Amino acid sequence: AQERYASIRDVECVTADGQRINLMMNAGLMADLPSLESSGAEGVGLFRTELQFLVRNQMPKRTELASLYARVLDAAGDKRVIFRTLDIGSDKVLPYMKPQEEPNPALGWRAIRVALDRPGVMRMQLQALIRAAKGRPLTVMFPFIAQYEEFAAARAEMDKAIAREKRLGNPIPSKLEVGTMLETPSLAYASIRFFEEVEFLSIGGNDLKQFFFAADRENERVRRRYDTLNVSFLSFLEWIVMRCEATNTPLSFCGEDAGRPIEAICLAAMGIRTLSMRPASIGPVKSLLMRYSLQEIKQVIDQARASGEQSVRHAVMEYLRENGT
Ligand code: PEP
Ligand code: MG
Repeated sequence: AQERYASIRDVECVTADGQRINLMMNAGLMADLPSLESSGAEGVGLFRTELQFLVRNQMPKRTELASLYARVLDAAGDKRVIFRTLDIGSDKVLPYMKPQEEPNPALGWRAIRVALDRPGVMRMQLQALIRAAKGRPLTVMFPFIAQYEEFAAARAEMDKAIAREKRLGNPIPSKLEVGTMLETPSLAYASIRFFEEVEFLSIGGNDLKQFFFAADRENERVRRRYDTLNVSFLSFLEWIVMRCEATNTPLSFCGEDAGRPIEAICLAAMGIRTLSMRPASIGPVKSLLMRYSLQEIKQVIDQARASGEQSVRHAVMEYLRENGT
């Protein structure tokens, strides 16, 4: 299937109305890295670091992590890699950590909450990342931030880690960018201070959608019940775009929906200019985006919203069918 899109692999994704869309890939293993080249991705928009922790039966060592992250950066060359710090709990349970009995794991002690309560692992991981960068640029993203204070505390850990490496005489990244995932509705309403201080945001649509609709992403009975192109969710995304524009905060979307062409074109039409997805989706998404005008798609979305549709999917699909080139 990759071959079908080979002809557009190395061209930039520009829509019919001239909007430049950045297409990046999600990864989590060294084995994913060759796809950077073969898919034409512009970088790794989400590197899920938990896989290294999940595939072992004991906590990985700092030196092991540092060498793995260094190999990831080597393989990426000039392309940017956004490393997301450990996102465990809920659906991702470490075999060597005492399992927590929780009534609602998805709403429980997970991700940044664990990291801030037991900072040892995050400190080790941040140190491994800084050492892996060896003076090159480094981009780090924190998962599951729900309010400003959590970001501030995580950011402080990063600053402490940098200061420590400096004291030890180790090279520090030539450029450091620290951002967060936006996975809880609360963060979309955080104080302006958060939007001013965070260096970029990435919408984790998988979790954000589950919390927005109160529909468990792991529960077959409800997980497909609410359409991503539901007008309520689109209006919510529009609000997030507005808030980011007000502070010039770079925004991307890295949930599974970014890799679905119809969803992707609607996300782009709503103003999200960077999409990160599994490598195999880049070709199909790029191919669709390049054939249409986002401004026109936005009009179709707005008309469907104004006419009281629950989801804009039908209207958008109809438009794509009738206006295909
Ligand atoms: C998300 O929640 O959309 C996301 C990208 O993170 P994960 O799927 O790893 O929870
Ligand atoms: Mg998530």
